[in-house]
Amino acid sequence: MSQVISTRSLLQPKSLPDALRMLRDDGPLTPLAGCTDLFVALNFGTLTDQRFLDLWRLDALRTIAVKGDVLTIGALATHTDLIRSRLVRGRLPMLAAAASEIGGVQIQNRGTIGGNVANASPAGDTLPVLAAADATVVLQSAAGTRRVAFNDFYTGYRQTVRQPDELIVAFEIPRVVGRQWFRKVGTRAAQAISKVVVAGVVGPKRRGGRDVRLALGSVAPTVVRATRTEAALAAGAPLEAAQQTLLTEIAPIDDIRSDAEYRRRVAVNLLGRLLAGR
Ligand SMILES: Cc1cc2nc3c(=O)[nH]c(=O)nc-3n(C[C@H](O)[C@H](O)[C@H](O)COP(=O)(O)OP(=O)(O)OC[C@H]3O[C@@H](n4cnc5c(N)ncnc54)[C@H](O)[C@@H]3O)c2cc1C
Repeated sequence: MSQVISTRSLLQPKSLPDALRMLRDDGPLTPLAGCTDLFVALNFGTLTDQRFLDLWRLDALRTIAVKGDVLTIGALATHTDLIRSRLVRGRLPMLAAAASEIGGVQIQNRGTIGGNVANASPAGDTLPVLAAADATVVLQSAAGTRRVAFNDFYTGYRQTVRQPDELIVAFEIPRVVGRQWFRKVGTRAAQAISKVVVAGVVGPKRRGGRDVRLALGSVAPTVVRATRTEAALAAGAPLEAAQQTLLTEIAPIDDIRSDAEYRRRVAVNLLGRLLAGR
């Protein structure tokens, strides 16, 4: 059942230091960015939080830039920002591809990459991309900044290492070498949550095997980086053997969107397509 807003309060910081002070001194506060996930919870009647911190005006967190060899994407960059960014399209085309398949235009205009990651749904479409890209999550509190490897960010179903006084401020992505690939399988081509979502990077062929990075969403409680499958491919395993290994690394479930068996079959088929470049 839809819930009332009038009992809830919203703090509106004007700067990042303000926001971090409020989180430290006036907490607990729930950060609010584009509100596209939070509003769904409000509508479903499952949002128990009462006090919110509105990040939307913190333009400093919207910057997309390259420093040295690292692409830095501010947490408040919207999916539309990612799609339009020359830097993202040039350096991380699989992220632009993921962003362009999120919701519809309205959701892309409001939804942010930070919200997608912090929301911690295993179906979040940008998550496999950040996992395959070996991204770093930059967390900031009034006490300072810390960096966490994206692949260590999730500790369980909808659980992360973020502390209540921390905000995700940015993602840092080192240069990705190889062919990037993103594929989302949902009920429809648009406005559908993923049944299986895959991002991969295929390095140049070399003697004895190939270097592949492979990450999957919607097939386990958290996004999965398929490191055993990657190791098998690096050691020269044929596709069928790598697909068998992949089945040991994922743990899909039956839910309203799909069933476990379908997700397993799609995951192994997508590995074949990734390697074939289709
Ligand atoms: C119709 C519809 C379609 C959708 N389709 C898709 C889809 O295809 N694929 C997909 O992946 N998602 C989809 N979503 C989900 C959603 O749009 C995305 O997850 C979006 O990126 C969330 O970003 P937001 O800024 O709106 O997050 P919000 O709703 O503002 O916040 C989400 C969570 O993240 C936390 N948070 C936000 N920013 C920060 C920060 N900087 N630091 C710490 N915590 C933070 C909030 O506290 C909250 O817990 C859809 C949603 C709707 C309503």
